[in-house]
Amino acid sequence: MKIIMLGAPGAGKGTQAKMIAEKYGIPHVSTGDIFRANIKNGTALGIEAKKYMDQGLLVPDELTVKILLDRVAQPDCADGYVLDGFPRTIPQAQVLDEALEELGDAIDYAINVEVPDENIVKRMSGRRACVSCGATYHVEHIPPREEGICDKCGKELILRDDDKPETVQNRLQVYHEQTQPLIDFYGAKGVLKTVDGTVDSKEVFAAIEAILG
Ligand code: ADP
Ligand code: AMP
Repeated sequence: MKIIMLGAPGAGKGTQAKMIAEKYGIPHVSTGDIFRANIKNGTALGIEAKKYMDQGLLVPDELTVKILLDRVAQPDCADGYVLDGFPRTIPQAQVLDEALEELGDAIDYAINVEVPDENIVKRMSGRRACVSCGATYHVEHIPPREEGICDKCGKELILRDDDKPETVQNRLQVYHEQTQPLIDFYGAKGVLKTVDGTVDSKEVFAAIEAILG
């Protein structure tokens, strides 16, 4: 099963993608996580990507497409995957489509997690991410057992630099201009499914399970 998560930054794509990955036994592939791992390790890709991420801009397609195609060519992706944060532009979606077509394959579901802009800034300012394993929490809605500590690996939880309110506004604008058109793109292919992302994360997941079966 090959799934794409669509939605504004902070809509809950990562939260749901992790639950899908666990239940359906497929890898969770997040381009944001790949970039953050590269930044942490000080790679050339990380240094380049950080320039864009810190401003709330998209990393150029040339860089992003390559890392994504390399990742989905790994053996653990052979039976499917859930993509979180990719594609974010029409050209990215077209490259993915072409790569799948060459394999006689296609995306099965594009799940659009719908959350209005008004809710997003609050969500992002409350998001906390683990410095080590990338697990995410929300200080009010999805808190860790112990404040500031990751339930999964015991490491420190931080507010991402790009989750500061001024950057979130830029990210939302970039989303509307460059990523939202993907909703029509996948709608035209007949694989688009929309869920209400404003309800509790368990309820969002129940709606997704009803779609995926
Ligand atoms: P995205 O991957 O779309 O950027 P996340 O999954 O990281 O979004 O979610 C953004 C923030 O909102 C996180 O702090 C997360 O814990 C929280 N969150 C996710 N789903 C919900 C939900 N249904 N209700 C409230 N908060 C949520
Ligand atoms: P995310 O973790 O999905 O919120 O992504 C964090 C940041 O990484 C984004 O704001 C972009 O700067 C960058 N990024 C992640 N995925 C992509 C992508 N598919 N295309 C371009 N930039 C991306």
